[in-house]
Amino acid sequence: MEATTNTVPCPECEAVVPIADDTLLNEIIPCAECGADLEITGLDPLTIEVAPEIEEDWGE
Ligand SMILES: [Zn+2]
Repeated sequence: MEATTNTVPCPECEAVVPIADDTLLNEIIPCAECGADLEITGLDPLTIEVAPEIEEDWGE
């Protein structure tokens, strides 16, 4: 088996985003091109979506 690095197009900017073989489901991968947080939503086939923005409400 070859150790290939998968790539998927960024849903935001269509830049090629490399996905490591050991990437886990629901892992967040930042797009190097546009900085969007991309969530791994499937591994077989490999799918990613822009992660929903999380409101960080720490109540300060
Ligand atoms: Zn992008």
